[in-house]
Amino acid sequence: MPVIPIPCLADNYAYLLVCPETNDAALIDPSETGPVLDAVAREKVRVMAILCTHHHHDHVGCNHEVAHALDIHRIYGHLSDGGRIPDQSHFVSDGDRVVIGKISVSVLHVPGHTTGSIAYFATVDGEPVVFTGDTLFVAGSGRLFEGSPAIMHRSLQKLAQLGGPTRIFCGHEYTESNLRFAAHIEPSNQAIVEARARAARLRKDKMLTVPSTMEDELRYNPFLRTSSVEIRSALNLPSSASAEEVFGAVRNAKNDFH
Ligand code: ZN
Ligand code: FE
Repeated sequence: MPVIPIPCLADNYAYLLVCPETNDAALIDPSETGPVLDAVAREKVRVMAILCTHHHHDHVGCNHEVAHALDIHRIYGHLSDGGRIPDQSHFVSDGDRVVIGKISVSVLHVPGHTTGSIAYFATVDGEPVVFTGDTLFVAGSGRLFEGSPAIMHRSLQKLAQLGGPTRIFCGHEYTESNLRFAAHIEPSNQAIVEARARAARLRKDKMLTVPSTMEDELRYNPFLRTSSVEIRSALNLPSSASAEEVFGAVRNAKNDFH
């Protein structure tokens, strides 16, 4: 697989995206130095750049240390995150491309969790992959610290357009609690029941639930299922409610769910 997940901190994921032809790699969201340096040494890759999905400390916290240790001079983040991402050297915006070996990674601006949130999309060996940070989780979506429901809804729709086979590599291992909420507001959705059984099995053995695929997310992620009749009725919304309204109500219900 061209992507190597690196569990960091309590429940974060950093990733290596490796060009199979050149062995050059990008390091996504390094938040803990030890596991990141271990993974780089183990995989014997040459890290050319750090790609940051957003400025939160649990995603960029060891940029400086890792860049210093591995002699990395390219650190990417959104244009609007200038000053918020440690050691940022490249200020990108929607549609920009980052070249890693023979891989061309495209930048998607997906505001909502933060104003400068971006996702990185690439096709490697015919396999489409996307790094979604805290915008899209397996079966969930990040809190709206710097955006409205309408803005986040638009960002998720943009990601959904990447197509069913796209593999989703997200910023946190929140899958089990996300699916508990999904089951709560859409109890008759069989895809949620199956995803919960799978996640429980994996987590019992301390295995990762990433990646999922966009196809799977469309089946069970409540934040992508604003047209679900069952979700609308669970939230007491009429069938005339807009997708943005339903999205906002799902967000609020998730915030209040324990
Ligand atoms: Zn965050
Ligand atoms: Fe985070």
